[in-house]
Amino acid sequence: MKSTHIKGNTYVLDLGMMLLPYYKLDHQKIILLDAGLKERHLEKLERFLSENQYHVEGILCTHGHVDHIGNVNYFKEKYQCEVALPEEEYFVIGSLDQLELFFSPTPRDQVYSQYGHMIFKPDVLIKKNHEMITFCGVDFKVIHTPGHSIHHVGFITPDDVSYLGDALLSPEVMAQAKLPYSYNLLKDLTSKMSLYHVEASYHVLAHKGVYADIKDLITDNIYFYKNRGEYVLNHLETPLSFEQLFTTVMEDLSIQIKTSEKYRVLERILKGYVSYLEETHKIQGGIAEGTLKYQKLS
Ligand SMILES: [Zn+2]
Repeated sequence: MKSTHIKGNTYVLDLGMMLLPYYKLDHQKIILLDAGLKERHLEKLERFLSENQYHVEGILCTHGHVDHIGNVNYFKEKYQCEVALPEEEYFVIGSLDQLELFFSPTPRDQVYSQYGHMIFKPDVLIKKNHEMITFCGVDFKVIHTPGHSIHHVGFITPDDVSYLGDALLSPEVMAQAKLPYSYNLLKDLTSKMSLYHVEASYHVLAHKGVYADIKDLITDNIYFYKNRGEYVLNHLETPLSFEQLFTTVMEDLSIQIKTSEKYRVLERILKGYVSYLEETHKIQGGIAEGTLKYQKLS
């Protein structure tokens, strides 16, 4: 697996579908920024750590998504390392009950088998008003970017390298993304706007790239997500129920759904766009023949 030096003690690992930065405390001790997906990344990470005889001292987590915290439990147990997570993200992944609530109406046993490994108790909770945290003796600036998830954050290492997690997507990833996930798109867009003011020598995006300047990328991301919202809106020329809208959009995007798991993931994604369109008063839900139907507002 390729490890690239960014600046000072800040490096980045290429996990294929994503980048995972790490910060070297000395020749042996490191802090991981996020922890990757369990199925695809654990083996690669394990090999990299053992080949370099690295010891994980801590994990700084941007948000509680399965591809970012999938290996936290494993490393926490193996290295007895400290883990930091935004407080609101902990409200989702802190227990099976909380996960069940978040993924409702997915049955509890399915929530457990798919997401149970994500449950952990962080040692450090990053609060909404934290501009900086001292973690494993190192000061990291915190960039608050809620929206992609309940309270997604980014970090700036002491080397002036920002890690923005999933707050922005690279042009290559956007080109392939049919309907990217956003928990609250309105907040997400506001967070993306706030990134114009983030100064750093380099910026790392989990999906995926390292950039010296992100100004144009921010504009492209805002345009892209707004455009996806408009795309969903254009399917509501006539009032549709959520299920009707879902079928129409998935057919139009040529997305094949063969499992209930995939259906539920896509359902959550589309709900994010529907909520955004309602919140921005572009559509309105109303009851017609006993069913909730969404209608475009002129
Ligand atoms: Zn994410």
